[in-house]
Amino acid sequence: MRTAEFDVIVVGGSYAGLSAATQLARARRRVLVIDAGQRRNRYARHSHGFLGQDGSEGAAIAAEGRAQLMKYPTVRWQEGAATQATPHDGGFRVTLADGSAHHAQRLVLATGMADELPSIPGLAERWGSSVFHCPYCHGYELNQGRIGVLATSPHSFHHAMMLPDWGTVTLFLNGAFEPDAEQLGKLAARGVAIERTPVRAVSGTATVALQDGRATELDGLFVLSRLHSASPLAEALGCEMEEGPMGRYVRTDMMKATSVPGVYAAGDAARMAGSVAFAVADGAMAGAASHQSLIFGLPT
Ligand code: FAD
Ligand code: MG
Repeated sequence: MRTAEFDVIVVGGSYAGLSAATQLARARRRVLVIDAGQRRNRYARHSHGFLGQDGSEGAAIAAEGRAQLMKYPTVRWQEGAATQATPHDGGFRVTLADGSAHHAQRLVLATGMADELPSIPGLAERWGSSVFHCPYCHGYELNQGRIGVLATSPHSFHHAMMLPDWGTVTLFLNGAFEPDAEQLGKLAARGVAIERTPVRAVSGTATVALQDGRATELDGLFVLSRLHSASPLAEALGCEMEEGPMGRYVRTDMMKATSVPGVYAAGDAARMAGSVAFAVADGAMAGAASHQSLIFGLPT
């Protein structure tokens, strides 16, 4: 184990991975960050709700984090995708798409999630500019305007109940579910209008065209995307997963340790719903926990 090239390999060099690597770098540990450069929020220019960086560009927050990290002499950065991670000599061997491989005692997976949107023409093109999932991230900028919620599952009831704090809301059921009488009462009490005609397309800023030819002009449209692990590494390593309402994510304990000893997971990849703030917090925990496990050992 002493012969490992790195103490820790962090896969994913966005908010969670950068935060984990920063803790390890500050302990003068040898860290390799492998990153494919596909931040989940790359579709949105500005990021909101992260303390001290509210309204900054998502890319700028990550770039500054990376620049600060790379000042530490024990950190290496490798662009590219990690395609395989396997137990090796008491640690882990990580292989990249280009065939190169690296060995470390611990692994932090900060690989994020990928969003799957309903296949409605015009929707994907507006993702991050006028089509969003997170009201806290992008609701305020709609200035109490006209907001749509495009239902994708019964969980969209919760979405529709929240959004009246950000504007005037229409819930487009689009055949995804039918609220029961109690839910209809609650939606009515929140002032939510309900539209049952299926959605045909989205155009303009966020104009929703219906199958019957009618159209509703909106300032923004919210949709709960289906979430998929952006990388199969955790599952391939045998990490237990958690079934969330939007998709499966890696199960971790409070220290961000997965069910596989020596493997930690942080950020969107390991929580039901994510944000930059949560990713940074989880990353800090995974960084500190993986570091301390190098000193005190792993649970047996
Ligand atoms: P990510 O930022 O998704 O980064 C994961 C990184 O891992 C990527 O660079 C990826 O390329 C890399 N990676 C994955 N697999 C591999 C592999 N096998 N090998 C190498 N690298 C790999 N949150 C906010 O707080 N405020 C906002 O305003 C906001 N706006 C958003 C807007 C949109 C449109 C979306 C979709 C999300 C938004 N979010 C926002 C959520 C935010 O993007 C995520 O919570 C955050 O990016 C999670 O950080 P992360 O480090 O866990 O993952
Ligand atoms: Mg990351």
